[in-house]
Amino acid sequence: MFCPQCGSSEKEMWEGLCIDCFLKDFNLISIAENIEVTTCAHCASNLKEGKWREMGIPEEEIIYRALEDHIKIDEISEDVEIDLEILQIKGSSAQCIIKVDGNVLGKSIHQEYHSSVKLKKTVCPDCSKFIAGYYEAVIQLRATNRPLTPEEIRSADETINDVLERLWEKNRLAYLAQRSEMKEGIDYYIGSQKSAKKVISALREVLGGTVKESPRLMGQDKSTGKGLYRTWMSLRLPEFEIGDFVIYENKTCRVVAIDSRKISVMDLSQLTRLSILWKEYDNIETLKKSEDIQKTTVTSKSPQEIQILHPETFQPIDLEIKPRMKDLEIGDEVSVIELNNEIYIITE
Ligand SMILES: [Zn+2]
Ligand SMILES: [Zn+2]
Repeated sequence: MFCPQCGSSEKEMWEGLCIDCFLKDFNLISIAENIEVTTCAHCASNLKEGKWREMGIPEEEIIYRALEDHIKIDEISEDVEIDLEILQIKGSSAQCIIKVDGNVLGKSIHQEYHSSVKLKKTVCPDCSKFIAGYYEAVIQLRATNRPLTPEEIRSADETINDVLERLWEKNRLAYLAQRSEMKEGIDYYIGSQKSAKKVISALREVLGGTVKESPRLMGQDKSTGKGLYRTWMSLRLPEFEIGDFVIYENKTCRVVAIDSRKISVMDLSQLTRLSILWKEYDNIETLKKSEDIQKTTVTSKSPQEIQILHPETFQPIDLEIKPRMKDLEIGDEVSVIELNNEIYIITE
């Protein structure tokens, strides 16, 4: 056997040529000279096999991944090591060099390839929805018989931003399309229903309240034929806030904490704490706000009773002494609240 290219008959043969002649034209890898990647100018995701993925990665990383995706290593190459480098980026095209080391048929080879990666910038369908102001859900934040407090508004805004920011990394429809503040409350327009549900449960975690949902059919999706729904979700905060006074099962109480599961109150007659679940919410009646607390003076004290003056009529009132009132002395100023014609000393 001799090599048809060089005529040598001394060398090992491979695919009809001597090894040296074979290796002259051998490529360790193959890669296209021109690669095009469609990316979203808004979220930096890129289109791969018909799907938008890998959002939020830096441009250089998109280029490196595009190169990697287009490299094919020849079957007989062994111990291949590939080093990718961007030589320069001009406009939307990156000139890249691919340095390859590997072993073929017992010989080690170094090769260099050039490839240009062009980033074709467009806007992905989800980001086009964002730009067009599309939304699937409206969260209506309201309070019962009162306006929202600035503190409630601040903490709602903050919670919504946090949740959406976290969700956006995986779901580009997790965005706030619009926020409108009105006299009766705030409406938050959210890109997707899924993210709106997560937002509203996070809001309940922070503010409590009761949720109602009402989906409305808005039309039909022309491409899928499915119904297009938009959901209105209302989160209604109670009339009472922490520190306010309520009546529940004939017990006069002060609200001490509110969370997504329950309302914690202090029973003012027993000075014991109890938890009221949200499903019992309709049985709670707001009596007075914490601003209604008044000041008065202790006028006398015995081991069983404490006497104070009514804050408005200045009539003396004798009250049974309770554990937390022991430190009160004659002449001390105390906070009191009148609820259903009874006066309660507020000890904390
Ligand atoms: Zn040869
Ligand atoms: Zn996008």
